[in-house]
Amino acid sequence: MLKNQSPVRYCRFMVDGRAYSGQIRDKSIDIVEGGPFTKTSLMRLSYQMNRVKFLPPFMPKQLWCIGYNYKEHAEELKSEIPKEPVVFIKATSSIIGSDDFIRIPDWAGAIHYEGELAVVIGKSGRNISEEDALDHVLGYTIMNDVTARELQVADGQWARSKSFDTFAPFGPAILFKKEMPEDSVIETRVNGKVKQRATLSQMIFPVKTLISYISRFATLEQGDVIATGTPSGIGPIKVGDIVEVEIDGIGKLKNVCAE
Ligand code: MG
Repeated sequence: MLKNQSPVRYCRFMVDGRAYSGQIRDKSIDIVEGGPFTKTSLMRLSYQMNRVKFLPPFMPKQLWCIGYNYKEHAEELKSEIPKEPVVFIKATSSIIGSDDFIRIPDWAGAIHYEGELAVVIGKSGRNISEEDALDHVLGYTIMNDVTARELQVADGQWARSKSFDTFAPFGPAILFKKEMPEDSVIETRVNGKVKQRATLSQMIFPVKTLISYISRFATLEQGDVIATGTPSGIGPIKVGDIVEVEIDGIGKLKNVCAE
């Protein structure tokens, strides 16, 4: 019976004022004991998904991000197609969960959504070969790499524009899987309208290349996350907007924009 189940999706959630770990099953969540990096055991208790509020599935140790990793996105920002991965870091203090508010500052110019596949590192390593890279993957989740676009350009580097509080919606769940199917679709919607839509195969540098590349200069640790870059179709969000990023098999990361 268990053998035929799809790979497990792990989440953290609040219900009735308490936090739990869980495993998503259709429209309900089974409570589990244990965390994403430990063995989990099922408790005989579940909640309907529409009753819970998701938390970040865990707090990443390091949040590596990749810029310009989809050709049409590099073009829409009038940037060259990169010859090797463009790596930057986003402060982990910007992380929020699904259902949390993205706070839109009124003084920072245009604020953009960027829907992205996020890789969760399960096994530490350095100088990892592309061949071995996927052995270091625990699973996949979703990140919205929210960006103050005008500050990004004005600052000349990206630390501030990427790291405002609440600018890293993360979750709702980790899909335990070494490799995502190439034809998995990533889609971002604002107020129900599709803004970004691509398949993961459109990435310029695939996950195994990103892991290998970063591990040549920094040890990748268990609990690190790599946000793999956003497809074309970026655009502004404003107070009151509802942003959803959905990836086949993982779930839907949903946030409302507030002041
Ligand atoms: Mg990005």
